[in-house]
Amino acid sequence: MRRTDLFVPTSKEAESSAQVRSAELALRSGLVDHPGAGIFSYSPTGERVRKNISDIIREKMNDIGAQEVSLPGLQYADIWRKSGRWEEFEGEMFTFQNREGKDMCLATTHEEPMAGLVRERVRSPKNMPLVLYQIGEKYRDDHPRNGLLRAKQFTMKDAYSFTTDEAALDEIYQEMRAAYIEIFDELGVEYAIVDADPSSMGGTASEEFQAPAEVGSDEMAYCPGDDCHFGTLDFDVDVCPECGTDLVETNSIELGHIFKLGTRYSDPMDLTYDTESGQEEVIMGSYGIGVSRLIPALIEQRNDENGIIWPESVAPFSLSVVPLNEDPEIIEMAEEIHDRVGSEEVLLFDGDTAIGEKFAESDLIGVPAKVILGNTFLEDGELEVEFRDGGREYYEPADFFETYA
Ligand SMILES: [Zn+2]
Repeated sequence: MRRTDLFVPTSKEAESSAQVRSAELALRSGLVDHPGAGIFSYSPTGERVRKNISDIIREKMNDIGAQEVSLPGLQYADIWRKSGRWEEFEGEMFTFQNREGKDMCLATTHEEPMAGLVRERVRSPKNMPLVLYQIGEKYRDDHPRNGLLRAKQFTMKDAYSFTTDEAALDEIYQEMRAAYIEIFDELGVEYAIVDADPSSMGGTASEEFQAPAEVGSDEMAYCPGDDCHFGTLDFDVDVCPECGTDLVETNSIELGHIFKLGTRYSDPMDLTYDTESGQEEVIMGSYGIGVSRLIPALIEQRNDENGIIWPESVAPFSLSVVPLNEDPEIIEMAEEIHDRVGSEEVLLFDGDTAIGEKFAESDLIGVPAKVILGNTFLEDGELEVEFRDGGREYYEPADFFETYA
């Protein structure tokens, strides 16, 4: 992508109001626009980031045999009345009447609609376990707070499992838990796994994946040890039971939640299957990840005075190319990198803005590495690559293309 072609809707709002760091950087770098309280538009760079996150999640869900579906965000009231949540969500759910006078809502979650999709269609135990998931929009009439961290519309991955017994539910729960660990590791976010229901008997029924962050609205004690993801809501625990490291108390952002629902929804939704002696209720589990919330969570954890520091897996571009002058050899190499590494991966800083501005914008957007084409290239024929953390490497062009193309 050429910088002169890239649409970047930067915002003055970032400077003009008190913001959490993630909101300030998301607006200042033009990742999102903020047309009103609690709603956000994704720019081309923002949408690249959101898509990269979704793709990582989708791949891991498919790996464990979950099947992708898409249910409407627009819902009728009846199934929510059936489960008893129409009243429970009151105030937080967007509800209204359609032109025929029927009560409708914008879905905050999809347990009921998913149970409705499966009901009467999965009758035999042979059709289970079944795991369905979707990546889509959810709506919650919450008090907007901390920018993207708590919005009225947000993107979730939500998965639902349907099984005949607790043992099968536990198996899927553990697979899902392992997939979440792979997902959050690949996303480069720091997180802990917190038992959300420590009072439950006979094994864990619900765990949250929480990202340590000062601006988070949750609290936990967690283990800062390498590759240890122990977290707890029991603040009397001082030492990690898994590795012995001292625990740290912190605010945190909920990134994901895995939940053994049992028959909480299958009972009111009449979600049953046939047995030799009659009918049994289907056992459900639900497994969410806040896709759009991962964006501010990552920014909160990974930024410096110059801007965002995206992990490679999420970054909108993996390389910036900054030609320092108009020398034909430099321009030719810049174009070659753009073509061979690919316009999906490369942000080529063409155009006549000052070099300093190009560097600053690349760092603000959070591109992990810059190829700087100047005298080093003209004199030694080497490509200078400066990483977002300040590290630097020099490549012969052939080695460079082997590494990046
Ligand atoms: Zn530990």
